[in-house]
Amino acid sequence: MKVKKLLLIVIVFTAIVFVAACEKEEDTNRNGYDYLVLVNKYSQLPDDWEDKVELVDAKNAWDEDIQLEKEAYDNYLKLEAALKKEGVSIVLDSVYRSVQEQQDLWDEWAADPEKGLDYVKKFVAVPGFSEHHTGLAIDICLMVDGELVFDNDEMIEERDIFEKIHKKLADYGFILRYLENREDSTGYTYEPWHLRYIGSKKIAKYIMDNDLTFEEYLESVTDYNKYPEAAKYRIETTLKKEFEEKTYKDKISNVRFDVKKIYTSKDAKDDSTIKGLELGDKDLAFEVEYQLLPQEGIDYNTLIVTDGKYNEELGWVTNINRLGVIRYENGSYTVTQLDTGW
Ligand SMILES: [Zn+2]
Repeated sequence: MKVKKLLLIVIVFTAIVFVAACEKEEDTNRNGYDYLVLVNKYSQLPDDWEDKVELVDAKNAWDEDIQLEKEAYDNYLKLEAALKKEGVSIVLDSVYRSVQEQQDLWDEWAADPEKGLDYVKKFVAVPGFSEHHTGLAIDICLMVDGELVFDNDEMIEERDIFEKIHKKLADYGFILRYLENREDSTGYTYEPWHLRYIGSKKIAKYIMDNDLTFEEYLESVTDYNKYPEAAKYRIETTLKKEFEEKTYKDKISNVRFDVKKIYTSKDAKDDSTIKGLELGDKDLAFEVEYQLLPQEGIDYNTLIVTDGKYNEELGWVTNINRLGVIRYENGSYTVTQLDTGW
């Protein structure tokens, strides 16, 4: 009887610890930054990210010094070990790349007469808009029969090996970032080697089990107080749609955002300006800077709105310090306000 009682206590205690651990893991905002950070072709790396992110040193397949985010690396090593037990050998390739490094590459190639600005604009990721800036993105390569396989075309052929790798990702908090035939959602073609650490095994499992892109996952989340990156995604996609389909129809080829601040209805009690906006639960107010890329042959002057500036070198029209509001009505979101300053 005594033993049974003790066993019961142990079980209950273990269950409590387990539940507590799960709940703790659910908070992806830890270590001073948000592991769900969204960086893609139109969503910029947060300004303070590089000051905050904790990077550790590692070596890549060619024994070169590389860096990546601490927790992502710890979990990568666990993934690597688990795969080794199944006879699959993965090795690090490209990981963290600073915005400055990307800028240097951009400048160097733009000045190169063999390449030039047009080439760079087409083929080089815009500084600030590569997921590799986060330190959470990992490109791997493979060891197959003792040979290093790192060429993209050759890697894509290794479907069976990548299937085994992808099955294990969520157990360590990783997702496959650029799914096959999902360029419409991610902006990238299939990259079986590009892994992304998101800091939650539970969310990673949900994304992988449901075959979602990271963007689709963020779109499905509506608790904007708990998940600011979902709010950011909502703001960016709503503005993008507004600009591309209404405001600058046929005049722009692209738009990029740097969301500086997000306000939800919950923020109203601390801020009288927000209170005045009378935000509903699903409504969002925000501060944003954005860049418009004119279509070829379009006079950029037609895009400049109030505080816009034209960047000759990049060919962008940059708009700064705009306050915006999007509201949820009849099942969809619309931009109801986009002012200069407050
Ligand atoms: Zn990559």
